[in-house]
Amino acid sequence: MSAAKIKTMDGHSNADWQMRKNAAMARGEGNVAPVFVDRASGSELWDVEGRRYIDFGTGIAVCNTGHRHPKVMKAVSDQLERFSHTCVMVTPYDSAVILAEALNDLAPGPSPKKTMFVTTGAEAVENAIKIARSHTGRRGVIAFDGGYHGRTIMTLGLTGKISPYKNRFGPFPGDIWRAPFPALYHDITVEDALGAVDMLFKTDVDPADCAAMIVEPVQGEGGFYPAPDEFMRGLRERCDRYGIVLIADEIQSGFARTGKFFACEHSGVEPDLMTVAKGLAGGFPLAAVVGKKEIMDAPAPGGLGGTYAGSPVGCAAALAVIDVIREENLTARAAHIGNVFKDRLTALQKAHPHTIGDIRADRGAMIAIELLQYGDRRKPNAALAKAVLTECYAKGLVVLTCGMDGNVFRFLPALTISNDLLDEGISIFEQAFKSCA
Ligand code: PMP
Repeated sequence: MSAAKIKTMDGHSNADWQMRKNAAMARGEGNVAPVFVDRASGSELWDVEGRRYIDFGTGIAVCNTGHRHPKVMKAVSDQLERFSHTCVMVTPYDSAVILAEALNDLAPGPSPKKTMFVTTGAEAVENAIKIARSHTGRRGVIAFDGGYHGRTIMTLGLTGKISPYKNRFGPFPGDIWRAPFPALYHDITVEDALGAVDMLFKTDVDPADCAAMIVEPVQGEGGFYPAPDEFMRGLRERCDRYGIVLIADEIQSGFARTGKFFACEHSGVEPDLMTVAKGLAGGFPLAAVVGKKEIMDAPAPGGLGGTYAGSPVGCAAALAVIDVIREENLTARAAHIGNVFKDRLTALQKAHPHTIGDIRADRGAMIAIELLQYGDRRKPNAALAKAVLTECYAKGLVVLTCGMDGNVFRFLPALTISNDLLDEGISIFEQAFKSCA
């Protein structure tokens, strides 16, 4: 038993662990709540004090198949009986090949696909940009305001939100430009957003020197705004016109979360490249770029990869996750979960019309509400969001916020959650909200 575990058994509290964490770990790696997890199962977790929580965060959209799904655990333990690491770039293994085949089949659109593996979402985005540049021989990249693509220097350059991600970490790589992301609730239309891309082509980057555009089909950290279908089609049309690689960042929105396997399927747009991570391996670190064969094969052998790229443990877990999504029909379940939230949150909004603004629940189990002051959508209510968040944890609910102003609640339950736990979790949120509003 590890030293840490022994301390837990000695009765250390969340507060004790928080003090030790503050002393031992850099403050930049902050935590949402002083809740130190002892164990988790399905849609529940228990802290070191034995308190139970319903999980509406799933480790930021990772455990879509719930904590420790028996099939995923079995696949992982079977893999661990065989080997844990050999490096896919030295002596590869079957599970990586089978998973690549599965992802190539799953990726939207008719074009033949290929896959490359890495370990984290940010790494997938980095590699998608490398592949796009290698394929086009161009340098420019267009991203969108409010977009989030990771914490490495390139992906921070793409990320369109300063605090807390970018402050004091520059300079960022050049040749990155940004346009507004359409958010009708905040008066940014599809026309405005596409017009701004066209303007970039006049003011900042010759489209003939633009390698890629990267977009989240549902903007995640930026506030859970679904990209309107016409916007996705407008980007596709411009990419086709100028030979630009369209990258869909499906890291948060993928793997059945939005009611389709991938969120860009809602628009019918086939991206050239797609980045995936998080839900892909249900809690084990694995990420990938999946895309059109001829683009994926642009970099020469050895140009892509990494020591832990496509860990055999992650690949085994991901194959099981894909089976579970199919066997348990989790795309339909995500849509159902979204509808349940929509009804309950709409009722809550009726009772609190001045504090609950937009409800975004049309993309399956990627659900959000925006909190306002005085019913004014230009007056975000981050203070209320913070108070409700604290109250949710006190009442036993793990939940997250997001958005440019920290006033958006996002709900990311496991797609395997039972009706009872779903109901109980939403009831806790309602009570927490009512006690603070
Ligand atoms: N892209 C998107 C859309 C994300 O939501 C995230 C993580 N929140 C990332 C990229 C970065 O992934 P990771 O934290 O695994 O590097």
